[in-house]
Amino acid sequence: MKVLVIGGGGREHAIVDALSRSPQVEKIYCAPGNAGIARQAECVAIRETEVERLRNFAAERGIGLTVVGPEVALAAGVVDCFRAAGLRIFGPTKAAARIESSKEFAKRLMAKYAIPTAGFRAFTDYAGALAYVQGRPLPAVLKYDGLAAGKGVVIARTMAEAEAALRDMLLDDKFGEGKVVVEDYLEGPEFSFMCFVSGHKVWPMALAQDHKRAYDGDEGPNTGGMGAYSPLPFVTAEDERYALEKIMQPVADAMIAEGCPFEGVLYGGLMKTARGIEVIEFNARFGDPETEVVLPRLKSDIVDIFCAVAEGRDTQLEWHDFAALGIVLASKGYPGDYEKGHEIKGLDRVEGAVYHMGTRADGGRILTNGGRVLFVVGKGRDLAEARRNALADVARIDCDNLFHRTDIGHRAFDDLER
Ligand code: ATP
Repeated sequence: MKVLVIGGGGREHAIVDALSRSPQVEKIYCAPGNAGIARQAECVAIRETEVERLRNFAAERGIGLTVVGPEVALAAGVVDCFRAAGLRIFGPTKAAARIESSKEFAKRLMAKYAIPTAGFRAFTDYAGALAYVQGRPLPAVLKYDGLAAGKGVVIARTMAEAEAALRDMLLDDKFGEGKVVVEDYLEGPEFSFMCFVSGHKVWPMALAQDHKRAYDGDEGPNTGGMGAYSPLPFVTAEDERYALEKIMQPVADAMIAEGCPFEGVLYGGLMKTARGIEVIEFNARFGDPETEVVLPRLKSDIVDIFCAVAEGRDTQLEWHDFAALGIVLASKGYPGDYEKGHEIKGLDRVEGAVYHMGTRADGGRILTNGGRVLFVVGKGRDLAEARRNALADVARIDCDNLFHRTDIGHRAFDDLER
């Protein structure tokens, strides 16, 4: 089968890598791909949001399966466009992807179906939002409703911070005209629970944890994610069962009841609070960088899973026992301004896997081409060994403009030491 992967980051590289392990795959295309993906797939110069061009490409090349990586492609309606043309594609429709693209949709769905999540109110007017926040305890969680690339959430610890954020979101329309969801503040460790979903059918993946902050000790600004690991010692089998039975399965069922059945990866961003597991957010696609540590642990043939989801068939997921821990190498300055075009050397010395997040080839050289540049994955019998292997590979990579966190997995190590 010929397969097309849409996207060009570390997540898509991990998907391409998993596909390349399937005996059913004869050729992989990736649009637009990157310099690392180009070693395992033919990269096609079509952007993620050019849905008609992607559809035409898939139809002309006889692509048997298309897999969507990024949310921007879903929000652009790529799944609807492919389905209308009778092409098999893995991912939710634009209507189903609202569980990610609209925070208000997600929160109302959770309220209606009694899914555990923080209490909330949605506002379009500044005065109403401010009055509500003033009547509630701090910190206040203020979320711009819409896709804001991880920058639409403010945890306001003082009233002055809350006022400034609401002003940005509702008066100055910094992200475009929109709504703000004000949520109660929850506390506890966060983790990512990704499930393959096909209508009522839900297949859980191995759990992972991302690290959002830029610097060690969870300091500094929020990023797209600076590292991840799987499995998670602090989430028990009972927690996992609860999350599946009280959150993921009911949400899949609710999406059908709401007339927008979900097909694809439903990503639960969950928090283990003192009250139990609660939902922070849903995403409608594979997480990045969680996918880069979860898919290497998948033993089953991923093509069987994608096809089973697309056709609503039964399938089984099997996992390797080893642990995986991955570290992002990011351009200095990220998530603020950063330079591109720095040469990366030493990639041929790496012993584990490196997924490219933002690179470009220039003749025989590999250059940095994004904020997050590389994702270095270590495997091991346990997380400690996986971390040692990841750090050893990071040390083999040579580039004068990259930085990384050295404490990925710290929560797991604290737990294991206790
Ligand atoms: P992304 O998709 O990049 O994760 P987002 O814009 O969809 O970001 P959320 O995931 O909803 O935003 O929130 C971002 C972060 O803010 C969460 O990972 C969490 O750390 C924190 N956060 C969100 N909601 C709450 C809450 N109710 N209580 C405490 N912290 C929260």
